[in-house]
Amino acid sequence: MIVWEKRDAETFSRDILEMEQRGSTEPGRRASEAITMIVLAMIGLAPEAYADPVACETPLVLVETDDMELHERICTVVEQSLPALAECKLEPKLPVTISFSVKLKVAEEVCLGLYHTGKNEINLLEPDAFTAAHNGSKIWSAIALSQHFDSLVVHELAHALFDQSTNSKLACGVDQEYVAYAFQLASLTASTRNEFLTSAGVAPPVSVEGINQVILGLSPSSFAARSWLHFSQPENGCDFVEKIIRGETSLWLDPE
Ligand SMILES: [Zn+2]
Repeated sequence: MIVWEKRDAETFSRDILEMEQRGSTEPGRRASEAITMIVLAMIGLAPEAYADPVACETPLVLVETDDMELHERICTVVEQSLPALAECKLEPKLPVTISFSVKLKVAEEVCLGLYHTGKNEINLLEPDAFTAAHNGSKIWSAIALSQHFDSLVVHELAHALFDQSTNSKLACGVDQEYVAYAFQLASLTASTRNEFLTSAGVAPPVSVEGINQVILGLSPSSFAARSWLHFSQPENGCDFVEKIIRGETSLWLDPE
């Protein structure tokens, strides 16, 4: 999940709780869309085509949009990101569907993207809404809009593949976000990533103690930068990610 930079820890906890309620928002959206379509059909205003998810050439990934250019773009980002994810044993095992919404909110927080845990469904802000959110972000507007958008796809895809790859009940929200942000920032060009790190005000070295749910709640951008800097150290990388997947380590900071 990607949200605006400023959130308090309490709101963050609600976000995670809601994420872990296995996408309770999605059935409601589907139901309201279905009702809307029925009403529009009754008054003769239904659109000619109602986009069904269409598979990418990459197996097990589908994109739901009637914008073919957008479909191709998302599929290309997916295809380019899968090899790096696979190196860390993050591979699609079940179909993942990517769809778009004009608004995404969890617990009154505006999200740029959302993965519905246990449902293999990714929701992204549709491009115009994403552009507005990007331009309004102090941190993310420091990097190019197109790279931000594409990297968000990688972030949410990493969530989906992580969800399909771990049986560990220990893998909590903060662990998932580490993996998602690490791959998101890894997908940026080096110069764009440096722009983001500067904008987030984070410089190496970082220690694992500085990457936890408190930092994530207070400053997701700082958490993102720290996650990538930690992940990119040779002794961490896939070894660390696979330990998280196996439930052998966690970034959860015990309040005790
Ligand atoms: Zn996330």
